[in-house]
Amino acid sequence: MKVLVTEKGKIHEEAIELLRNKGFEVEFTEPDLSNVNLSDYDVLFIRTYTKVDKNILDRAKKLKAIIRAGVGLDNIDLEECKIRNIKVYHSPGSNANAVATHTIALIFAVLRRMPEADKHVRDGKWDREEFLSHELDGKVVGIIGFGAIGRLVAKKLSGFDVKFLAYDPYLTREQVEDSEEVRRGVKKLENLHELIKASDIITIHVPLMPETRHLIGDKELGMMKPHAILINTSRGGVVDEKALTEYLNNKKIYGAGIDVFEEEPPRSSELIASGSSVLTPHTGSMTHQAHRNMCVQAVESFLKDFKA
Ligand code: NAD
Repeated sequence: MKVLVTEKGKIHEEAIELLRNKGFEVEFTEPDLSNVNLSDYDVLFIRTYTKVDKNILDRAKKLKAIIRAGVGLDNIDLEECKIRNIKVYHSPGSNANAVATHTIALIFAVLRRMPEADKHVRDGKWDREEFLSHELDGKVVGIIGFGAIGRLVAKKLSGFDVKFLAYDPYLTREQVEDSEEVRRGVKKLENLHELIKASDIITIHVPLMPETRHLIGDKELGMMKPHAILINTSRGGVVDEKALTEYLNNKKIYGAGIDVFEEEPPRSSELIASGSSVLTPHTGSMTHQAHRNMCVQAVESFLKDFKA
């Protein structure tokens, strides 16, 4: 059985070894498959930048399975895979810890204005009064989307003296509130606007879908407390970037921590110019641990289920 790894250098060696140990022959190529002869491969092992569309599937006549190292499956035509009986394996939850901790890093970076303070010292300045900032303790943390990542953020912040609110219309009150892991307890709200008005820290963990596009727009930003901060490590389109820029530049909210952009890289984004935002280049899941987990878990689920 032959496996084609399409993102050479982007798949953890441990995952490759797992396949080789089970007798799979592994070959490597680049994500652009337009000039690759695919007729010989039984399995494609992809990561983020390989698009598996109908055209690719038409050319991969022997293909029986796709292993996707990662969470989302938006780069695979799942309908076409179903028609052809090609099984798709991925690794849900494998990077949740990395994204949750990145979210928390952004919360502190914004509250304590870390990048600005760092630049201040590097510029040879020493004006401590300029950096009077905010602590997390005593605050209300509003979590939009209480899935794997939202839940982990609450669990990890449980040691602080904070209150948690959550908005997730697809979960019952019990699913949100009956968690033993979140030691401080979470209150589920049925109304997004109620959460926005009551929170000091708002953090977003929903998928991008037509329903969640610009979930946070001008109207919602207008409901935030002036000292509140917004964190987005979910997907760019969930927040209306133009409106957010306006709120940051006019100091109508305290700050924002943004890992994901409507256009990536955000060449034209004015958020870059705004001093009160902390920006990262979609690196929420970029840790050595998450990288390994994404690759190994996807292969493990394939090996567990796959019958040649
Ligand atoms: P998940 O599926 O476990 O949780 C998403 C939650 O959002 C679900 O509980 C769902 O009910 C809820 N939801 C759906 N629509 C909603 C709405 N309109 N309002 C409120 N809640 C809604 O997903 P997850 O693993 O927690 O990931 C959350 C998002 O984080 C992903 O969809 C992805 O876009 C993003 N993500 C980002 C990175 C990164 O590198 N920054 C990495 C992984 C995932």
